Amino acid sequence: MDVIEVRKQFPILDQNVNGKPLVYLDSAATSQKPLKVIEALDDYYRRYNSNVHRGVHTLGTLATDGYEGAREKVRSFVNAKSTEEIIFTRGTTTAINLVASSYGRSTVTEGDEIVITPMEHHSNIIPWQQVAKVTGATLKYLPLQADGSISLDDVENTITDKTKIVAVMQVSNVLGVINPVKEIAAIAHKHGAIMVVDGAQSAPHMKIDVQDIDCDFFAFSGHKMGGPTGIGVLYGKKALLNQMEPIEFGGEMIDFVGLQESTWKELPWKFEGGTPIIAGAIGLGAAIDFLEEVGLDAIANHEHDLAQYAVERMSEIEGMTIYGPKERAGLVTFNIDDVHPHDVATVLDAEGIAVRAGHHCAQPLMKWLEVSATARASFYLYNTKDEIDVLVNGLIKTKEYFGDVFR
Ligand code: PLP
Repeated sequence: MDVIEVRKQFPILDQNVNGKPLVYLDSAATSQKPLKVIEALDDYYRRYNSNVHRGVHTLGTLATDGYEGAREKVRSFVNAKSTEEIIFTRGTTTAINLVASSYGRSTVTEGDEIVITPMEHHSNIIPWQQVAKVTGATLKYLPLQADGSISLDDVENTITDKTKIVAVMQVSNVLGVINPVKEIAAIAHKHGAIMVVDGAQSAPHMKIDVQDIDCDFFAFSGHKMGGPTGIGVLYGKKALLNQMEPIEFGGEMIDFVGLQESTWKELPWKFEGGTPIIAGAIGLGAAIDFLEEVGLDAIANHEHDLAQYAVERMSEIEGMTIYGPKERAGLVTFNIDDVHPHDVATVLDAEGIAVRAGHHCAQPLMKWLEVSATARASFYLYNTKDEIDVLVNGLIKTKEYFGDVFR
């Protein structure tokens, strides 16, 4: 992968911020967008903006082809069996909420268990808390090992015949842990439970094969993988989606509407009430084309190298704590002794470096780490080792600055 060529596809990267060349290290929050995506959105709005599935006019047909064509790209991207299994949502959060509100609330009953982990993003905690509250089920947490990873022995010991749903992130947005979701799914199935995978931090960075993982649901967001905001995906096994009720009712998702009763369209449209996210889906399709042209394996290798290099260089700084296991996805979460992470992010911002500070929507994990907040540098296919050097220099500056203040 030629990172210099890749960078040319991201116009936003070519600018100064606070007088310094932008170093964008916040892709886990949202990624930058390649020209291909920007142009696809522009093309849709300039040339064939129209509603889908309704009219027979030419623009309507073009828009429908674009929207449904994007669904096929997503199907192939995650290796689902059929486009019926690909539901467009607003993002990971909406996708998980759909599973929780529809499947969860209708299937789980009092005394059942839902199993998640303490490293989950709030989007994969709160929907399950709500299901547990409404149904009287118990929300159980898999224990974490000292480095934040999950042991399969613990999975075996935690999931029981009472477990109905297991919901785990494939890659942690804080620790960079890569969870063995395929093995966890097998254990869940042994006990008759279903497996929900939060793929928000994995789908943008590695090859996904939902049939190989054998998960029942897989959720991800377009904006973290070069696509626009406002579009996401819920993959679900057809048999489960067929037995689920929609949670949003109105136009687009109906087959027949009577005065008292109505019927729903078939999959996947019964879950897509209202005018869908047409431009978003088309933009996501373009993002998938882009990622596949570069190659998901090449992207994963590049980010792996960046993360290893970042850990190595950042470990040279005294007072640096890096969270998470040695083998990690492309992000590094850290704290510097005696400096609040918000101050770290503020000093780095003055250097043109964008990192995130806070609880990263993972307050239970912050509690487990015994910190209130951390800073995080997250990488994508357009980042370089030179940028990590700039980050390290910025961190040294941060230390010096606050060292002076405290003296
Ligand atoms: N899950 C994980 C692991 C995430 O990192 C995020 C976003 O940061 C989400 C879920 C929520 O994604 P969205 O805000 O796009 O719905």
